[in-house]
Amino acid sequence: MGTFRAIRIDKADKGTTASLSQFDEAELMDGDVTVAVEWSTLNYKDGLALTGKAPVVRRFPMIAGIDLAGHVIASSHPKWHAGDKVVLNGWGLGETHLGAYAEKARVKGDWLVRLPDGMTTRDAMAVGTAGYTAMLSVLALEQHGLKPADGPVVVTGAAGGVGSVAIALLSKLGFHVIASTGRTSEEGYLKSLGAAEVVDRTELSGTPKPLAKERWAGGIDSVGSTTLANLLSMTKYGGAIAACGLAAGMDLPTSVAPFILRGVCLLGIDSVMCPLAKRELAWQRLARDLDRTKLSEITHEIGLEQVLEVAPQILGGQVRGRIVVKIT
Ligand code: NDP
Repeated sequence: MGTFRAIRIDKADKGTTASLSQFDEAELMDGDVTVAVEWSTLNYKDGLALTGKAPVVRRFPMIAGIDLAGHVIASSHPKWHAGDKVVLNGWGLGETHLGAYAEKARVKGDWLVRLPDGMTTRDAMAVGTAGYTAMLSVLALEQHGLKPADGPVVVTGAAGGVGSVAIALLSKLGFHVIASTGRTSEEGYLKSLGAAEVVDRTELSGTPKPLAKERWAGGIDSVGSTTLANLLSMTKYGGAIAACGLAAGMDLPTSVAPFILRGVCLLGIDSVMCPLAKRELAWQRLARDLDRTKLSEITHEIGLEQVLEVAPQILGGQVRGRIVVKIT
């Protein structure tokens, strides 16, 4: 047993502290698979955990990081063997179970997804929970029956992680994508991902009406609050909005009008406890439908030592696209 580098969160007199330090392997939690972590990523939730802005962490000490990709070093789980390439998103990693910003992780084999063929561990973390959530949202819209011929789709928080991947996926599938952003200076970036139109997010942040002019057949919302309420009121008859985020707030000041007068559906998306079969499908679809050139264009690489500096920026909406974190 030795030590390894990790970003550790400890309880302090007021709130929590986070630091890059050595972690004792003997302190790793129970699990039947030990993974050498090669890459991780920085998601909005990681920003909340690292800064202590929301009570994401529910065990101390904690190793932060909700996503990892790497290879198996040791396993007593029948499905996994040394050398297997794996991805892990959520399941309480970095919240209740020691997480991803570490050279080693000990986890449950039942939580792992096999890295899809043709994808590298770095690609998988460029996707990360944000991209996998975008895919879960697309799957939910497809299951609802949404097709490109039904009309445009809207993506909010467009220049963020979920938004960027959602635009790339939906445009590849043939949808006319309307991207809503607070950073209209990123119009070129959003169009390069496949957005057909870019709108200023202030159009969607005013006081929502029960029903407004029908603008889209569906959408993916990572913003919540009045934005989601406006999205619902502007959704066409029979359409659906996949709600996955709360970048503007947890509230939802809507009415039942879109649901009972237009048959609009609100589809809830959770990535953390999502069943394994749906995760495997999402990762297979990401391998097939996400343009790898676009993925590399939206991805910015940092080292483990930069994570603490960049964490507040993601909460401030200053990060464009996705960040991968090189661990080893
Ligand atoms: P990012 O920070 O990368 O993106 C969020 C984007 O939201 C920003 O880039 C910005 O886009 C927009 N935004 C930020 N603040 C505001 C605001 N006050 N009002 C309106 N828009 C705002 O985060 P992620 O993409 O990683 O995550 C997005 C959301 O999805 C988060 O709330 C996260 O917690 C949630 N999430 C949920 C998951 C689940 O399982 N349900 C899984 C993963 C993420 P722009 O500059 O273009 O306007």
